[in-house]
Amino acid sequence: MTSDKKTILSGMRPTGKLHLGHLVGALENWVALQDTYANYHLIADYHALTTNLDSSGLYQNSLDMVIDWLAAGIDPSKSPIFRQSQIKEHTELHLILSMLITAARLERNPAVKDQVRELHIQNVSYGHLGYPVLQAADILLYRGDLVPVGEDQVPHVEISREIARRFNAQYGKVFPEPEPKLTKFARLPGLDGIDRKMSKSGGNTILLSDPPDEIQRKMRTAITDPQKVRKNDPGHPEVCLVYTFHQKFNADDTSAIERDCRSGALGCVECKKRIAGKIGEVLAPFREARAHYDAHPGDVKEVLADGEKRARVRARETMEAVRGAMKLG
Ligand code: SF4
Repeated sequence: MTSDKKTILSGMRPTGKLHLGHLVGALENWVALQDTYANYHLIADYHALTTNLDSSGLYQNSLDMVIDWLAAGIDPSKSPIFRQSQIKEHTELHLILSMLITAARLERNPAVKDQVRELHIQNVSYGHLGYPVLQAADILLYRGDLVPVGEDQVPHVEISREIARRFNAQYGKVFPEPEPKLTKFARLPGLDGIDRKMSKSGGNTILLSDPPDEIQRKMRTAITDPQKVRKNDPGHPEVCLVYTFHQKFNADDTSAIERDCRSGALGCVECKKRIAGKIGEVLAPFREARAHYDAHPGDVKEVLADGEKRARVRARETMEAVRGAMKLG
């Protein structure tokens, strides 16, 4: 990794096997950035505890997620892949940064309010309220210049910028102010409706690891244009989520699909069969790569061990600079 490249920190909570929404929303972007930037890919396992205290599945979920990252084309020799819990400097920097933000500022964070509502949380824990501070520590520990986000996530990066500014003003400049790197972050709808995001908790996903017959089965359940009841009824692709999948994964045939849907020449059963077949084809190399890593779990553990070693070097350098700036000896 050369030092003249800007540094990007990106990560995910380990929720197990990934789905098409992750591919379109993040992984394609990560792969595209890996030659231009110095990328650090974080498995945010401590973050997962903010909304679910059960840690028993975190390790296996982390391994499953790493396999999906590798199968999607992340090259670990370019971009270290590592678990937050294995780099102790995350917790140390988190503690220091937590002094630089008020509880009132964290209480105003709309993301926590959304999670409380969606997950029916009765009492917000200290750790949950403070997760943007842990996020700031994740980014600043690697002296991240850029954080790839969709427009709705820009406020999260703003808290990290505020904390970096406060540290630099109080103790001397150690951290760059991380900039949001706006990316397209296409949002893939879930199979249960065009307004619903594909998400594991929504139970409306196609996994990257699903075999072709499972993709066909799931696609048969997808919601289509409610006005197209019989096969030959004219349809409205613009309100049909199956058409959204054609646009993303079957771009060459999109005009023909649109024309035949509108005229009634194409029925929804056939239309779904075609896109499920296409997605199965697109994911074939992915399944093949995944099968390799499934059969060689030692390779995956090595990727983690190597990534954690390299991440630790950067993290330790930062903490030395932090302690130096704070005159802690
Ligand atoms: S034919 Fe295809 S695009 Fe048209 S409504 Fe049915 S599933 Fe949607």
